[in-house]
Amino acid sequence: MDSLPIPLPEMLPGHVWLVGAGPGDPGLISLLAWHALRHADAVVYDALVDQRILDLVNPAAVREYAGKRGGKPSARQPDISNRLIELAGQGLRVLRLKGGDPFLFGRGAEEALALADAGVPFRVVPGVTSGVGGLAYAGIPATSRETNSAIAFVTGHDATGDVPDTVDWAALAKAVPVLVFYMALKHLDRIAEQLIAAGRPADEPAAVVSRAATPAQRVVVAPLAEIAAAARRENIEPPALVVVGQVVALRDRLNWLDNPLTAEPAPG
Ligand code: SAH
Repeated sequence: MDSLPIPLPEMLPGHVWLVGAGPGDPGLISLLAWHALRHADAVVYDALVDQRILDLVNPAAVREYAGKRGGKPSARQPDISNRLIELAGQGLRVLRLKGGDPFLFGRGAEEALALADAGVPFRVVPGVTSGVGGLAYAGIPATSRETNSAIAFVTGHDATGDVPDTVDWAALAKAVPVLVFYMALKHLDRIAEQLIAAGRPADEPAAVVSRAATPAQRVVVAPLAEIAAAARRENIEPPALVVVGQVVALRDRLNWLDNPLTAEPAPG
């Protein structure tokens, strides 16, 4: 079960692999991620990594949690990077496991830069980002030829926790037909207001996809002007994605997960 039918690079002692675990469903991890889960000596993981994927970690490996828990603040980023450097310095094969893709709003770049500066060898293993793969589990395609030839991934809050003022809302609203927001639930009222003020139609289709690609996935669809209230009414919890654009309307026909004609039978 551990050997794969294609050659994969060996995980070497003292090296760090920065790996994306995808949005949830363990079936979405890459072969390289699987290889690392089986061969790492130490695994440092984030809150967003699905438990079913952590269950695949080699039982002999040391696991360390680096993220928010029970409302406590997350481990400081320099502390996490230093810990990776330390574990690698001990000659361990280190797996740094992150939700989705490590280089998309995952602070993977900061950690990779710290490793590079410290002279620690590392590899980056991309993952399925929630903003594409998670939406697919909600029956929402990132693009379709009829709706959009561009898409933007936007963070709903900056390092201070506020709506980022580095985003040019007017330009974004005007130029990009499909907007996918990460970390946007908290500020959804303001984000929707800014987009409408910048010219997006108040009745444009929008969706919130919570816990995408997990058994707890929930999807709320509403016009842009009402999406924040709808998410509140439905008690939608993070992690959640917000998508604004005509692709959302395709969910009526593409919601394969909940469709009795296309969904697989439940196991057992
Ligand atoms: N690197 C990750 C994103 C990390 S930022 C990726 O590529 O997906 C954290 C945000 O990601 C969350 O606030 C949420 O917006 C989104 N997210 C991650 N996993 C998710 C999931 N399973 N369902 C919904 N949103 C998710």
